[in-house]
Amino acid sequence: MQPTEGVSHPESRTSRLLDGIPGSATVGLSDRIAALRSAGRRVVDLASGDPDADTPAPVVDAAVASLRAGRTHYGPSRGTAELRRAVAQALPVGVTRDPDSEVLVTGSAKFALSLALQALLNPGDEVLVLTPAWVSYLPLVRLHGGVPVPVHLDSRDGFRVTAEALTGACTPRTRVLLVNSPTNPTGRVLDAAEVDAVVRVAEEHDLVIVSDEIYRHLVFRGEHRSPAVAAPHRTVVVDGVSKAYAMTGWRLGWLSGPADVVSTALVAHQHMLSCVPLFVQDAAVVALTAGDSYTREMVETYRLRRDLLIDILDGADGLRFTPPEGALYGYLDVGGTGLEAGPFAARLLESTGVAVLPGGPFGAPQDDHVRVSLAVPTADLTTGLQALRTFVTTLPAPTPSGARR
Ligand code: PMP
Repeated sequence: MQPTEGVSHPESRTSRLLDGIPGSATVGLSDRIAALRSAGRRVVDLASGDPDADTPAPVVDAAVASLRAGRTHYGPSRGTAELRRAVAQALPVGVTRDPDSEVLVTGSAKFALSLALQALLNPGDEVLVLTPAWVSYLPLVRLHGGVPVPVHLDSRDGFRVTAEALTGACTPRTRVLLVNSPTNPTGRVLDAAEVDAVVRVAEEHDLVIVSDEIYRHLVFRGEHRSPAVAAPHRTVVVDGVSKAYAMTGWRLGWLSGPADVVSTALVAHQHMLSCVPLFVQDAAVVALTAGDSYTREMVETYRLRRDLLIDILDGADGLRFTPPEGALYGYLDVGGTGLEAGPFAARLLESTGVAVLPGGPFGAPQDDHVRVSLAVPTADLTTGLQALRTFVTTLPAPTPSGARR
């Protein structure tokens, strides 16, 4: 059974650390969609963050060749030298890391993030998490004994990151500042002033920045900027192949950063995973060294879908949104419909078969946003968004107090 937020089990024989940490909302919704489909319901899934494209053929070919060559044994724990070199060469412009001591290849970006937090946190250490935030950040901090401190960004201010908001959340226990740009779920790409604010506050309060850059190639407006450029000595970058190369199922990611953090993370990685399969690493080398044209093509497809989202939803009753600047998501404020995000998503699914992710698990104080994904086939996206638009027009008008009933 999924643990439920806030429920404690004093008699439980399971870990108190995990007590009350909810399961992943995205994984939970995928399971529910699969169950509805197997019961014969037609569901248009606008909730998934899994690119609909296939992994590029040369990458698949490399994995098959590697398997056939017998690369089915344990490999170097840190990752193969070839892949670590490819990772180091593909880092954002202006960031240099030694592939032998400052790069660790592990089983997904999620696991890399987990290792980074494990390497950095002592019990009770506070981690600033900008919210709305990807559903796993708050739980992962707690899983590693830390205390997540949400820094709520305001939708009316376009979810801008300011030094004031960050500084206001710092205490003597704050150790880590977690950032993610392009951002899941808001679609924001932090601009130069915001990255500057992140670096400045980290320096003033002696924090380590953990920068999740899994969407860094997926930018429609502005450009991706890494805090590692200005603050390499205090930034750990998390990245992976899932989104840029449509390789979610391969489970390969990495972290790069100062050698002390990477070598500490390596110890945890060695005891929990040993290594990533060699044939997956061989395939990832091909993705990183020859996959850019596939990524560019995918970004163009996402850009067209983003335009579609704007065309279909612009001016829809009760909906407000800022066009996504990057990542894979539209983040819609449904507050004007008078429904909270949870009931909105449930009623939308029930009456139209369209699944969106309600924003509650993103940790924002108000549950008034839902996330729609651009990583779904264009035809499904069109059908789903049109149904969503029709759905909001059929809702009764909110009462003057804002409530529908
Ligand atoms: N970070 C963010 C912000 C994500 O959205 C995701 C996946 N949805 C991940 C990390 C995890 O990526 P991976 O598939 O490599 O675990």
